[in-house]
Formats: sequence, structure tokens, C-alpha cells
Amino acid sequence: MEIFEDIIDFQNKIRLELTTGKRIGFVPTMGALHLGHSSLIDHSVGDNNITIASIFVNPSQFNDLNDLTNYPRTPESDYKMLKDHGCDIVFCPTVEQMYPGKTEVMNFSLGSLAEVMEGKFRKGHFQGMATIVYKLLSLVNPANAYFGEKDFQQLAVIRYMVKNMHLPVNIVGCETIRESDGLAMSSRNIHLNESERANASVIYQSMKQLTALNNIYSPASVKEQVIMAIEQSGLFKVEYFEIVDAITLQSVDDWKQAPEIRACIAVKSSKTRLIDNIGVKLPEHL
Ligand code: AMP
Repeated sequence: MEIFEDIIDFQNKIRLELTTGKRIGFVPTMGALHLGHSSLIDHSVGDNNITIASIFVNPSQFNDLNDLTNYPRTPESDYKMLKDHGCDIVFCPTVEQMYPGKTEVMNFSLGSLAEVMEGKFRKGHFQGMATIVYKLLSLVNPANAYFGEKDFQQLAVIRYMVKNMHLPVNIVGCETIRESDGLAMSSRNIHLNESERANASVIYQSMKQLTALNNIYSPASVKEQVIMAIEQSGLFKVEYFEIVDAITLQSVDDWKQAPEIRACIAVKSSKTRLIDNIGVKLPEHL
């Protein structure tokens, strides 16, 4: 596995790979890798001739300086995991290389997808995220790029941006990988203290159990009960819990309002903020 820190060396390498007609699979990450990330690598290795991962903690998508400063960085174990899963090339540029001059974001039209949920609570997050994904996709020229459903809204915004900018890449969404108790794997889980970690499965479990009761309860009632279940211990505060149309990401107040429904949540603990989401199975879909 080759590791590139210099953007020019990386560009030259990509050019070489493209001239030999290789199909490139790309997995952008912010590092502190776990089994969620490696599952994306596995998908890419299966579908492509060559797999490239990037590790870059993108400052322009952080709306909270503390979150950026404390974001975990574990390059050595990241390299090992990538190598073990068959990744061929890793790109880990500096901020100065990705943002020569100053950390400027582009101004993409992201539609109403980016205004709800994460967009509402993390101002500027999606413009920063879209900027770095656009820069990386333009650099790497992959045939396929892999993103986790764990960040469901991010995946929707990326698909929208890629379509709008006519980027010749296929965006592949991959299922969320979870700990054995159901907690979605995340680089930020390391910031949970012992009792928070012991209780954190309530986020997934309450969403799963209560949305399954959609034949009894309305979306509003499910929302109320999920929030109550998660906040009961006093360890967590729900920032938002929305039941949305999986395509438009707009809230629904009736289960039949959209053909596909997603439940999306953001939860704050003492030191971090976690997000998760699940698909809702309606009786008529069974
Ligand atoms: P991050 O390093 O958090 O920016 O994530 C990089 C990629 O990994 C994104 O496409 C995420 O959606 C994806 N990802 C993060 N956690 C998981 C998970 N638990 N399961 C599947 N994909 C994930």
C-alpha cells in the first residue's frame, strides 16, 4: 500500500493509474478508522481494480472548534487497517494542500436536503463537506465512491451535488455497521464515558423498537416516546429526532406520506454528539 501526503505526487500517481485503464474505487474518510470504514473498503476492493482511501479531517465542515480539535487521529492503526483490507493507495494531505491560501468553501446549491436536521443544527457543515468531497472526487476521478448510510443525510446531499455538477462517478451507499449492542460505530464513540457507553444502545434500540410499532403509533407519538426513552437516564439529550421521507428528507406526519421512510437522530452526550438513522418498515412493505 502506498501512502501519499503530497498532492502533486498523488495526482501523478492517479494519472498513471488512469492511463492503464484501471477502474478506481474511492473511500473518503476523516481517519480514526473502525469496522464501518473498513466495510466501505471491502465493498470497493470487491468492485474495482484499485482502491484509494483518503484520510483528511476537513476543517471547513466543523461548526464547533472543540469538535475539530478533539477529533481523534490514529494514523498508524488507520494505515494498518487499510492495508489489511486490501486498500492500494492512501491520500492524507495537509490542510494547506487541500485549501491553498485560506480555508474557503465553495457555494453549492444543495436544495432543501441540506436545510433540515444536520443542516439546521450544524450551520455551514454541508457546504464544507460538499467542498471537500467535490475536491477529492475531482482529484481521484473514481468510477465508484463509497459512503456510509450512517450519515444518511450526507449521502443524500452528495448524490444531489454529484448529479448537479455532472461528476462522472457512481455513488455507492453502504449499510451502517454497528457494535454488538446496536450502537452505530463512529470515531466519536471514544468520547463516551463508561456509563454513557453502557447506555448508548438505547439510541438504536428505541428507534428500532418504537418505529416498528407504526401500526399502533403515529410518527408524532413515536418521536415523543423515543426522545423520552433516550433522555430517561439523564445521560443524553436529543438534539433532533425526525421521521422523514427518505428521498426528500422532509418530515412526515403520516406513515403513508412517503413510499420510503427514514428515522434520523442526533444525540448529545457530555463530550460528544452522535448521529444515527434507520429505515422504517411499514406493514404494506412486508
Ligand atoms: P468519517 O470518517 O466519519 O467522515 O466517515 C467516512 C465514511 O465512513 C462516511 O461515508 C461515513 O458515512 C462512513 N461511516 C462512518 N461510520 C460508519 C458505520 N458505522 N457504518 C458504515 N459506514 C460508516
